[in-house]
Amino acid sequence: MTPKTSVTVLAPAKLNLSLDVVGTLPNGYHDLDMVMQTITLYERLNLHRSDKLTVRMPGSFVPVNEKNTAVKAALAFFHYTGLLAGVDIVIRKHVPVRAGMAGGSADAAGVLVGMNALYDAHLSMSELCAIGAGIGADVPFALMGGTCRVKGVGDLLKPLPPCPPCWFVVVMPSVGVSTPEAFQRYDTMGSPVHPNCEEQEQAIRAGNLAGVCAAAGNALEHCSGAVETPAICDQLNAHGALTSQMTGSGAAVFGVFAEEDKAKAAAEALRQSFDKVYLAQPDRGGARVLFSRRKPAPQNRG
Ligand code: ATP
Repeated sequence: MTPKTSVTVLAPAKLNLSLDVVGTLPNGYHDLDMVMQTITLYERLNLHRSDKLTVRMPGSFVPVNEKNTAVKAALAFFHYTGLLAGVDIVIRKHVPVRAGMAGGSADAAGVLVGMNALYDAHLSMSELCAIGAGIGADVPFALMGGTCRVKGVGDLLKPLPPCPPCWFVVVMPSVGVSTPEAFQRYDTMGSPVHPNCEEQEQAIRAGNLAGVCAAAGNALEHCSGAVETPAICDQLNAHGALTSQMTGSGAAVFGVFAEEDKAKAAAEALRQSFDKVYLAQPDRGGARVLFSRRKPAPQNRG
């Protein structure tokens, strides 16, 4: 078979169905306990073979420099495989930035999966996760996707059965949140909220959506500094959300709905006040190849 010339990848955003801070690790980082869920909102990446490394994010204000997670992922892939090649990457960003939805991690995961396919490198999921963990704590989950109990700094993953079917309405306020600043505020303020992630895991295993929502919560919500969160939650609840909360360190807020029509009505209502409102469902995977193209085989002229 001829080599692949291009690969298109979908990399889903995530929500935290729960997030608790349970202590401090020996390295000073926060020890977390969370249930994470990928959703049907995707970064779309196109990767082409090239003799140099180029990354473009048309329409996005995120700088493309050595701190960009996509650039880091491409360099880490070349370093790990020893491949002497380049790659041209175009990322259509659909996941809001500074949202707590791990858009940057999804980009890194998408680049790793895409380059693995483009260059037929055959790296295993555990190799990709090991490379990804060096780029960001959420990258292994962005690779695995689905529903996972996640501990440590976000790097210890336990895959769970799929979350019960439901609808998410996700609202991104106009101002994002810086993750390090949210954790600094947590250190001084603490939190009145500590969700029961174990109970939520059991509810997922039992396929009990009401139980999943009853055990939900986010220990970072009160210290995120995102002032619009309570008002957004009130609106989502008024439209029939089973629960609503911030995801990650914010600033995006989501409601969980059992019924599609209620979710659609809530999304429509919130679009009156917010530009970025997304209707999504649980996704069962992480970053994956959508399709790839190969060089046409040379014609045999006999
Ligand atoms: P998380 O849940 O992982 O904290 P987040 O939504 O809070 O996700 P991102 O939007 O993924 O955070 O990234 C936040 C910061 O990372 C931005 O300020 C941005 O400058 C930087 N960054 C670097 N690379 C990327 C990328 N590819 N996409 C988005 N942000 C990036």
